[in-house]
Amino acid sequence: AEDLPVPSKTRVFTIANQKGGVGKTTTTVNLAAALAKSGARVLVIDLDPQGNASTALGIEHRSETASVYDVMINDVPMADVVQKSPESDLLFCIPATIHLAGAEIELVSMVAREQRLRSALDAFLAERDEPFHYVFIDCPPSLGLLTINAFVAAREVLIPIQCEYYALEGLSQLLNNIKLIERHLNPELNVSTILLTMYDSRTNLANQVAEDVRQHFPDQVLDTLIPRSVRISEAPSFGLSVIGYDANSPGSLSYLEAAAEIARRGAPIAQQ
Ligand code: ADP
Ligand code: MG
Repeated sequence: AEDLPVPSKTRVFTIANQKGGVGKTTTTVNLAAALAKSGARVLVIDLDPQGNASTALGIEHRSETASVYDVMINDVPMADVVQKSPESDLLFCIPATIHLAGAEIELVSMVAREQRLRSALDAFLAERDEPFHYVFIDCPPSLGLLTINAFVAAREVLIPIQCEYYALEGLSQLLNNIKLIERHLNPELNVSTILLTMYDSRTNLANQVAEDVRQHFPDQVLDTLIPRSVRISEAPSFGLSVIGYDANSPGSLSYLEAAAEIARRGAPIAQQ
């Protein structure tokens, strides 16, 4: 793979969209794998109780496995729960287990309940000898306390948008929520990146949606579109990214290209 510039400071992304099934987890896993393939050291934090990102990275996440739940609720250091993905020596994951489903309720009564992930991540990043270049946090499809913790821990938001009808519905609500977080909890938060996913160039509708989104967010939308591809949907059942599963497939090449764009653009100016 092409050598890409690595950031001097860790770039922490939250992958967010309160809609389910728009490609959040797929984007998290494949961008992380793509950047690791280019030589960056990458951490994925699975913050969805479904644990789909853990599964897709071939990471053990049975109910007994130490996980992000223990980090957020029991103050276990991230260093004690982090696992290396079988796919790459540069790709790591903080897994989610089914226990995380209860965390949304347990967090409510905790002190600094919005900052739990941020504190744990900052401590983990500070004590590492080998720095992480990228962190990607995969969110559940809701705007509860888990997602708020992700927004507080991150500096950048990446929104995957499915190229289908209703794609923009709910987006203004998401952006309003991000503004609220920015105002009250994390002034550094920046919607830096929008990625169009599940694109089918044969339909006029997909083209129309892509054009609309580009018009609304000219600075955020990546040039690269992720095509709808069977290879992308097959890869997780092998515990691999699409890059590990079928490196030369169109889905793999598109995620490698999207990752290259993210690396070349660099962090938002205010954060460099
Ligand atoms: P989310 O995390 O937003 O709920 P997922 O990433 O799990 O969404 O994607 C939802 C479903 O769509 C999954 O079955 C996934 O394999 C499939 N999928 C995602 N992106 C693509 C794509 N580009 N082509 C084909 N299938 C895709
Ligand atoms: Mg998901």
